[in-house]
Amino acid sequence: MSSEHETTITMEQSSLEISTNDIHLNVQVDNQLRVMSNHVTSPSDSIFDEINLPISVDVSIPSRRELIQVQLEALLNNPEQSSSSSSYIHEANIISLENLSKKLNTPHFIVERILNILGFLSLNEDVLSISQYNVIRLTQILNSTTDVRILLFFMILDINNDNHISKIEMNDFFKLYFQNLSFNTHNLEEAIETFLKRFHFDTQNEINFEEFYSIIIEDETILRIFSLFSIRSTRSLLPEIKSHENFIHQYFPRFYSYIALLNVHQMTLVYNYLQDNIPQIILFIIYFLINLALSLYVIIFRSTILKNNVCIIFARVCGMLLNLNCSLILILTLKQTILIIRSKRFLRYWIPVDIHIDFHKFIGRFISILAIIHTIAHMINFGYVQEYSWSILMFTTTPHIGWVGGFATLSGIILSIVLAIIIIFSMNWVRRKGYFQIFYWSHRFYLIFFVFLIIHAENSWKWIIGPFIWFSLEKIYSNIKRYSTHTGRTYLNCVTIEQSNVISLNIHKPKNFIFKPGDYIKINMPQIAPYEFHPFTISNAPEDNSLRLHIQINGNWTKKVYERYKNMSDNDDISETHIRIYRADLNPKRACIEERSYENTIENEINTTTMNDLNNLSLKKEIIIIDGPYSSCARYIFDCEHAILIAGGIGVTPYASILSSLMAQFRASRMNCSHCQNTIHSKKILLDNYRLRKVDFIWISRDHKSFEWFFKLLYEFEKEQDIYLKSHPTEKRFLTVHLYLTELKIDKNIGHHPLQLITEVWTQVTGHDIFTGLKSKTHIGRPEWDKVFNQFYLEHNSSMINNVGIFFCGPTTMNKTIQTMCNRYRFNFYKENF
Ligand SMILES: Cc1cc2nc3c(=O)[nH]c(=O)nc-3n(C[C@H](O)[C@H](O)[C@H](O)COP(=O)(O)OP(=O)(O)OC[C@H]3O[C@@H](n4cnc5c(N)ncnc54)[C@H](O)[C@@H]3O)c2cc1C
Repeated sequence: MSSEHETTITMEQSSLEISTNDIHLNVQVDNQLRVMSNHVTSPSDSIFDEINLPISVDVSIPSRRELIQVQLEALLNNPEQSSSSSSYIHEANIISLENLSKKLNTPHFIVERILNILGFLSLNEDVLSISQYNVIRLTQILNSTTDVRILLFFMILDINNDNHISKIEMNDFFKLYFQNLSFNTHNLEEAIETFLKRFHFDTQNEINFEEFYSIIIEDETILRIFSLFSIRSTRSLLPEIKSHENFIHQYFPRFYSYIALLNVHQMTLVYNYLQDNIPQIILFIIYFLINLALSLYVIIFRSTILKNNVCIIFARVCGMLLNLNCSLILILTLKQTILIIRSKRFLRYWIPVDIHIDFHKFIGRFISILAIIHTIAHMINFGYVQEYSWSILMFTTTPHIGWVGGFATLSGIILSIVLAIIIIFSMNWVRRKGYFQIFYWSHRFYLIFFVFLIIHAENSWKWIIGPFIWFSLEKIYSNIKRYSTHTGRTYLNCVTIEQSNVISLNIHKPKNFIFKPGDYIKINMPQIAPYEFHPFTISNAPEDNSLRLHIQINGNWTKKVYERYKNMSDNDDISETHIRIYRADLNPKRACIEERSYENTIENEINTTTMNDLNNLSLKKEIIIIDGPYSSCARYIFDCEHAILIAGGIGVTPYASILSSLMAQFRASRMNCSHCQNTIHSKKILLDNYRLRKVDFIWISRDHKSFEWFFKLLYEFEKEQDIYLKSHPTEKRFLTVHLYLTELKIDKNIGHHPLQLITEVWTQVTGHDIFTGLKSKTHIGRPEWDKVFNQFYLEHNSSMINNVGIFFCGPTTMNKTIQTMCNRYRFNFYKENF
């Protein structure tokens, strides 16, 4: 209904039953109930639209507030309704205000205010609490009509209960709200002010409910948010009832995950995985068959021809497999070769180089099992040898076992010790828990291992020699490159201290250093630690004149780098080293402008300076040794038609490089037409070399300040793209940015909506997102992956799925979810873990 009717319903001992979505309203009125049909159009779900009763006209008009108050009171005085829907609730059970506010993810003061308004708050053993029965009523009230929700919100804001909201009350409410969220952005105050203007607080100091209501009803955005101002479900607020499944999950987690694996859904995923990873499976089958064939050969040869006992056969089978696997493990570390394979589409499809680290780890574990069996089998066998005692066989060269001076058993002992050191120190608790250097240096023992392996067994060198020479040549090549001023030895241009514990280094790009977007380098900063190399992805475009790294504090080394330059800047101690340090953590805009002007200066310097000058210049600068570049699967992006780039936190760096490179192409393609003065884009330059037609960039960050790291890039890309789309109106958007902020938790409960009110009104007014200043909207909370993937899936028909690539770089926990989703939707998945 859209017109406004005035109706009076006369009832004696009447009972009015109104049904809205999921509540039943039973209004009991003694004398007269006046009802005015509501002029609200959808989505307001006013119950009065639904009333169809005999009407007698009366002249007195109740105010809107009175009418909604009737609804509210009806809900409050409806005990049967509440109790019938929740027979499992006992009225005596209580939940503390503190707990309720946590479960609702809503600031304490808002929950307290609502409960006070509804009269649901009581004091139990000195703790403010609410009965479970009232929790149900609260849910029902907040899930009733939008009118009721608007009234409740008005009452929350009307702190002094004078039936008016003043500007101060509203301002204070939002300030307190954001304080409770521990959230602030530089334009928050301005955003609150903008929101207040919607309620005409720029021209008046207070409003009553009628004005408040009509402003909301007429504003589509605000009305939509009010229609969501509710509580998700009662059950989520009440203590959990442990189900059978939960019990198994809690006490037998392994058994539970095994059972879960067996369900049909998981079986489908496994099936999908197998179908989508045929080359990997073929490789594994070949690997398995070679191991099997070698084992069978040794078993048959040793048992039938040499007539060896079981212990020797076991030892020799393991020995043979050790030879094979030790040579394979070396091959899997050939980084230059991997780089070549990666750059050829056909090669990398059939040689799954992306799993080289996982395969290296797998073989490492297999080697340790084989070595244990091999050693134990020989030790048992020594017990059967009559000629020498066990200890002589084990610890001396007297029995002349082996091919180099009877050294087999002693070299075997050394090999076991070396292998144990390598294996133990490569475990996660060493590598990932701040002892990476121990892992790194203990892994250097591989040299001793291979030398003793060759001495230990007669045939080992035949297996090892090829891969070892190949490996050594690669090492020599990368060392030459590393210390040459044309490719590796360089210096720091400038440093920017970024927001959220990140520092970005601007490094002079050596003359012959060539890289592709998404590649990474290993850097050594002698002034921080003379022998440590750490890998970092280059975050700018190959088209730029310098190299840029974004480094997040993670452990000792990164912390030292961050603190060194921060302290230098704090203490104004930069004159000696000639390093410029910009403080984006203090003033991002200023740092950006200053750095850009400095970049222009050094660009000019490079254009006018000879190499010798640069070398002399570098004496005054901080030296940096770079090793690389090394490739990552981010290189495959340009082989897809639609690339979906997903980054978690600092995992954005490879994609920043790719986006920078794409933007450089946009720029290079832009020309001004001399006739019409319009901007035109040369299709030849723009994306002509690539299959890539669409990029969706999803960046999930805990802290909204992190978006500042690449604000300039995203902002300029948006601008560049708008110019392009203006001159090519028929073209589709090339890059879509989806930013997610997890610092704030989203749920469908009331606590989220005040934030939504402020942010959405701000975007509507300014056209920019409040968190980033970009046109793209920042989503609050984690992505709902299923929805996100489903949307991408619907964009393509199933034959096109193969042209879509999902690229992920970020924390391992997120990696699992995304991999499962890719598996489900059959998208190609490529990951990069830091
Ligand atoms: C290919 C790749 C690209 C990366 N790109 C970036 C980037 O762009 N920005 C960024 O902030 N971080 C990046 N990292 C992570 C970065 O290398 C580590 O944060 C850094 O080396 C930590 O050193 P630390 O001594 O401060 O911390 P530690 O406490 O020693 O280690 C913290 C973590 O970093 C790993 N790590 C430490 N040293 C090394 C090393 N020499 N080689 C490999 N892993 C190491 C450890 O296993 C551990 O998980 C990348 C890592 C890899 C493997």
